[in-house]
Amino acid sequence: MQGSLFSAAAPAGRPWPAGPNFADWVAAADVALAAGHAPESLDWQPAKGAWREQRRGDGAGLPPGFARYAAAAHAHVGAEVRPRLYRLLWRLRHGEPGLLDLAADPDVAMLRRWERAVRREAHKTKAFVRFREAAPEVGGEARPRYVAWFEPEHRVLPTLAGFFRRRYATLAWSILTPELAMHYEGEGAVWFGPGASAADAPRGDAFEEAWRVYYRNIFNPARLKIAAMCAEMPRKYWKNLPEAAEIPGLIRAAEARTQAMLDAPAATPALHCGPRPESPGGALQREAAALRPGSLPRLAREAARCQACPLAGPATQTVFGEGPAQARIVLVGEQPGDAEDLAGRPFVGPAGQLLEGLLAEVGLAREALYLTNAVKHFRYRPQGKRRLHQNPERAHIEACRPWLENELAAIAPTVIVALGATACEALLGRRVALADSAGQRYRYGAATLLLAPHPAALLRAPAGQATALRARLCDSLALAARLAGPEATPPTTDQRPERRAD
Ligand code: SF4
Repeated sequence: MQGSLFSAAAPAGRPWPAGPNFADWVAAADVALAAGHAPESLDWQPAKGAWREQRRGDGAGLPPGFARYAAAAHAHVGAEVRPRLYRLLWRLRHGEPGLLDLAADPDVAMLRRWERAVRREAHKTKAFVRFREAAPEVGGEARPRYVAWFEPEHRVLPTLAGFFRRRYATLAWSILTPELAMHYEGEGAVWFGPGASAADAPRGDAFEEAWRVYYRNIFNPARLKIAAMCAEMPRKYWKNLPEAAEIPGLIRAAEARTQAMLDAPAATPALHCGPRPESPGGALQREAAALRPGSLPRLAREAARCQACPLAGPATQTVFGEGPAQARIVLVGEQPGDAEDLAGRPFVGPAGQLLEGLLAEVGLAREALYLTNAVKHFRYRPQGKRRLHQNPERAHIEACRPWLENELAAIAPTVIVALGATACEALLGRRVALADSAGQRYRYGAATLLLAPHPAALLRAPAGQATALRARLCDSLALAARLAGPEATPPTTDQRPERRAD
């Protein structure tokens, strides 16, 4: 740079060299800051050295917010960029931490203009680089190389190296520009070489015709808006775009083609996809309507569409209760777990298996009971690939309570066993200390309500506590069996009462 940025009359400052990359500027600015060199005391020298891919972490150590703007603005071709970025950094580090919020500040305004210009140029480069097939031999292998000629206004190639490397990861390619060229061999790192000319890039391969055909096919003459088209595809890029050769002819013919489209008789739809299939929700609704109102199958189908609380969104499906409609004992748990959510059935996970074993110990068969949960959707927190159980909140319990009440109304059991605090809260409408309620009997309508620990609590508890919890759960299940009487055992098919689920 010649003299000082800030005053043409100011004397030349201390020469301050830095390589061409953004990381080089960050390192040089770091040294200058540490040495306490004020912006006007430095004369940033023209960049010299090798280019390399610009990476996201190159601005590490810069103030938050500034790094993103600076990383883009650094690619601007303006001669003042490096000194002006240093002045901004100096001000941010010397008592103006909120500087970037001052949009009217000349330095900040300039930074934003540069950043916008570079970002736009980068976007256009991604969209308008057109590769052509070049030399078929690379390093003695029969491997094509794809070469593009492009004339960006700013030095965006190093900022786009990662993008092109990922997009054309297995191809050998080069992007040539007047200032520098970016190369990739289909593996390894992107590397940079000196600038080139349009004559160094191949012209006229099969891809060019493909681009023209593509553009002719997507061009809609009835929607022609020349100003909008030129804003999206500025004329300065046309000379390197094969499809741009089609544009003048397409514009000239647009009016006539539009009129022809208007004059043509309406086309008969060529595709016959058959009647629109019924949506899953619609099918459930239709099936539900065919079932007796208030019956368990109808409730289950209606609940399958429930969206009454936010738990329906992330969960796989509604897990409704299951068991005979004439069951004398109903067990109510908390909510489905991971396994239940996937299977669509209650108590099929580890806690369910434990429960089945305990039921067998007290002489009850799972098939004779109705098993359900206070909340019908799985509440969880994702952690990597795992879904970690989360207790339902009171709002979820309240939203889901009608389904539980309807299930119990349909079954009219003799005994209900609430397993765990959530089920107790759902059935009693208040929280109770489970430890104090061992052996106590409550009323739920005409049924006796017993409170017991949830089998999952046995799995989580330390060995000493688990034994006590197990004993309390077994006692409650045994009491439920006694209260329900012989009807609690599974009836054979011949003995089943008249009442049917639907
Ligand atoms: S948790 Fe209950 S209330 Fe909430 S969406 Fe599921 S079924 Fe409906």
